[in-house]
Amino acid sequence: MPVKPYMLQPSIESAPREEIEKIQLERLRLTVKHAYENVPLYRKRMKEAGISPEDIKSLEDVRRLPFTFKDDLRREYPFGLLAVPLSEVLEVHASSGTTGRPTVVAYTRRDLENWAELMARTLAAGGLARGDVLYSTLNYHWFTGGLGFHYGAMRLGATIVPAGPGYTRRHVQMIRDLGATALTSVPNYAIRLAETALEMGVDPARDTGVRLGFFGAEMWSEEMRRRINKLWDMDSYDVYGMSELYGPGTAVDCHIHDGLHVWEDHYLVEVVDPKTGEPLEPEEEGVLVVTPLTHDAMPLIRYWTNDLTFILDARSCDCGRTMKRIARIKGRADDMLIINGVNVFPQTIEMIVLSEPLTAPYYQIIVEREDSMDKLTVVVEASKRLSDEEKRELARRLQERLREAIIVNPRVVIVDPGELPRGEGGKAKRVIDKRG
Ligand SMILES: [Zn+2]
Repeated sequence: MPVKPYMLQPSIESAPREEIEKIQLERLRLTVKHAYENVPLYRKRMKEAGISPEDIKSLEDVRRLPFTFKDDLRREYPFGLLAVPLSEVLEVHASSGTTGRPTVVAYTRRDLENWAELMARTLAAGGLARGDVLYSTLNYHWFTGGLGFHYGAMRLGATIVPAGPGYTRRHVQMIRDLGATALTSVPNYAIRLAETALEMGVDPARDTGVRLGFFGAEMWSEEMRRRINKLWDMDSYDVYGMSELYGPGTAVDCHIHDGLHVWEDHYLVEVVDPKTGEPLEPEEEGVLVVTPLTHDAMPLIRYWTNDLTFILDARSCDCGRTMKRIARIKGRADDMLIINGVNVFPQTIEMIVLSEPLTAPYYQIIVEREDSMDKLTVVVEASKRLSDEEKRELARRLQERLREAIIVNPRVVIVDPGELPRGEGGKAKRVIDKRG
């Protein structure tokens, strides 16, 4: 394969490692100083840890700094972590706050420019360019996904259609009428859209011009990606980020699709042991900890993302980028289910369910407690009407494969097409834990 990656900024995306690390160290020192001088919480924490900004002399010194947790953002709600006067802030987002106080993120003009650039790089990595029409069903209110993609497409000079979620049949029509060439949505909604299109007699692979997809914001497996690519005849990209890190645009896979490149000139990443916080070696799985290197309004030091991944051992990638890669996120540490003492990741279940050709990409994982034992039920929708015999056979096969993979013996129930609920552009509720 020729080394023909779509790089927006090749001079930095494929810079020698020493150069990237030199930029990182410079920016890390500035960030620590900025946080120390302008955010009381950081000054207090660093004093307690007996460290001052001048002590940061190498990238490894980041390990001497205390972590920042999501709870810190909640406690400092709304503007306790601001490092600039509010008059410098141009945009504010907040999480929905379903579990307690919301968290707020704020952006100065410089932050918005950085974010747009990172998202432009992210979209360009998939080959999006001027002349493309990016159709977005992402949410624009509160959630950072909608505007992140919007700013990135504008920076790139591509056309963006800010359609938002819902109105699925109308989307199908507009995607066709407007000549959309790329789609961004939450992953499960790309399936829902394709399914609705097929019901309307529109084959997304044949009757639309969409050939590129950018997905993120919820856990999705490699099998889900294969399904989406096939339905749309597209190449799809996994965009990683979270509002605390601007939003989407921290990392993305390149056209080789072997891990996600972190935009290291803006983010310093570590993977640490979830229990001890100690740094792990490449290929060792742990929690991703990120220090943004250019955050102006709200600097964060060693932000504990709670996402589980590992850093890939190989430094360089066939795409020519020299920036480190992380593995696709295995799940959030809080998504992990503990079933009779065994750790189970919903994504592992998804991988196995979707690798069977007779399954639709809709399933539910239900955990209940009966007689002080946890019981796991996986409800799976069939891709077409099956006889009772075929259902039993599929359930048996899935049960066997799941038992081997997750070391928990599940009950598998196969239901007819259309029986499980569809999300209308929001995140799908796939795990129902009834244990309270
Ligand atoms: Zn690459």
